[in-house]
Amino acid sequence: MHLRELETRLNYSFSDKMLLVQALTHRSYGKMNYERLEFLGDSILNAVIAIELFYRFPELEEGRLSRLRAELVREQALLQVSGRLFLSKFLRMGRGEIKSGGRQRISILADVCESLIGAVFLDGGMVAVHGLIHKLFSPLFVQCLNQIDCKDPKTSLQEFCQSKQLGLPIYKINLAQGAAHNQYFQVMCCITALHLKSHGGGKSRQAAEQNAACAMLELIKKNHKS
Ligand code: MN
Repeated sequence: MHLRELETRLNYSFSDKMLLVQALTHRSYGKMNYERLEFLGDSILNAVIAIELFYRFPELEEGRLSRLRAELVREQALLQVSGRLFLSKFLRMGRGEIKSGGRQRISILADVCESLIGAVFLDGGMVAVHGLIHKLFSPLFVQCLNQIDCKDPKTSLQEFCQSKQLGLPIYKINLAQGAAHNQYFQVMCCITALHLKSHGGGKSRQAAEQNAACAMLELIKKNHKS
């Protein structure tokens, strides 16, 4: 185990190497394991991501900031980070755990990401840990914002309308059919100020509205180009 290699990837050198070792130790290996550091790192990560989002996206409202933060700290995101650091090869765990595929276990790899963050905080303080999180999570920020944009067209459309002072988009159900467990909705979305109408269908009213909003965003894009 070459800890220097990991420190280089982290761009951080520990004064107390034992903290780094503890951050990499699974409970199957011994009592001095990463669990308390993980607890600390989880909270610090959430706080630092909140601070980053707050300054990076001054125009975003609270709901979207929350959703972005949830995206950035979820297991899959942490897994990406741990992959870039090759954390699996630095893990210290008991034989049984290794045999049962512990090194590749998603939850463990995500937890160790958090414990490292806790360890860097204890070793180097808030500035060091902020720098580390900034470095590790930067690639995820852009990726994540794009995702959220396509995930929630209604919010995007509403924000667009508000920024252009167009009034709120209006949604009307044109059609609702089928039995309770198998319904289909057809919704019309219109923006009166632009004389634009779009349509969307889906298995719930909410899904149909999202699809209609998505179609409206496409219409607006086309109209802007011509
Ligand atoms: Mn965790």
